[in-house]
Amino acid sequence: TELAFERVVMETALRAALINKEFVVYYQAQVDGATDTIVGMEALVRWNHPTMGLVSPAKFIPLAESTGLIIKLDRYVMKTAMTQMKEWHKKGLNPGILAMNLAVKQLQQEDFIEMFKQLMTETECKAEWIELEVTEGQIMTNPEKAIKILTQISDLGVKLAVDDFGTGYSSLAYLKRLPIDKLKIDQTFVRDLPDDEEDAGITKAVIALAKSLNLRVIAEGVETKEQRDFLVENGCENIQGYYYSKPIPADAFEVLLKSGFIF
Ligand code: C2E
Ligand code: CA
Ligand code: CA
Repeated sequence: TELAFERVVMETALRAALINKEFVVYYQAQVDGATDTIVGMEALVRWNHPTMGLVSPAKFIPLAESTGLIIKLDRYVMKTAMTQMKEWHKKGLNPGILAMNLAVKQLQQEDFIEMFKQLMTETECKAEWIELEVTEGQIMTNPEKAIKILTQISDLGVKLAVDDFGTGYSSLAYLKRLPIDKLKIDQTFVRDLPDDEEDAGITKAVIALAKSLNLRVIAEGVETKEQRDFLVENGCENIQGYYYSKPIPADAFEVLLKSGFIF
């Protein structure tokens, strides 16, 4: 009963937060590991609660997903981040590619493609500036459906990345048929690099798989120079993680962009 009560309280608070615009979008740099230059960023939502302070998405995304609130939330995040991209371009900055997370609930919305096209027009954010990240687990729950809708997204000129790669059960046959551009190696494999032999092996195998399927590859959760070096030496071109930068608010990210290099 207590848990159910907490859920109801949280759900009510989430709804109010959407109305009161308590959600903030943070940006985390994605970097070319060989040159230390920014190639893009991932938009990550934060809940700035009036009394609780900054709440991590791990605490509210699952509830937002199960209640369907994720649809409104993600539209808000997308609109905010896409508007920001246009803003940076107007200022003459080169922000690279904007990666955004896409919940599978969104994909199941009949009007997703229309909504997304409208968002692009409204914000003047170009398709070629955008990449959408969908988790491997979410794609593989209904691969046929995912292929269909992801193909429509890809036809718009938007790039697609498979998030948390290696944690779900990807069928290679499906992987070949998906219109994806990039694999994102999950941070659970990166954490114990380079010393853990299994993780080193898995990471190398994912990089090799990406190369042979003609996909780009990025590693997330990179915190140390040793991890970065291992990944770059083994052919993983793009890196994301605290080693370069934590997710930060737009104004702080703009300072990074102005310097061009991240170190
Ligand atoms: P994700 O998409 O796998 O995002 C990567 C997570 O790793 C982020 O957590 C990021 O802050 C964290 N991270 C990045 N670099 C490092 C590092 O070097 N070390 C460690 N330990 N962690 C690192 P965050 O921001 O708490 O987000 C958690 C998850 O919530 C995301 O995982 C994503 O699945 C979801 N999420 C976040 N924002 C959104 C959103 O706007 N929409 C949707 N649908 N999901 C979101
Ligand atoms: Ca992601
Ligand atoms: Ca992940």
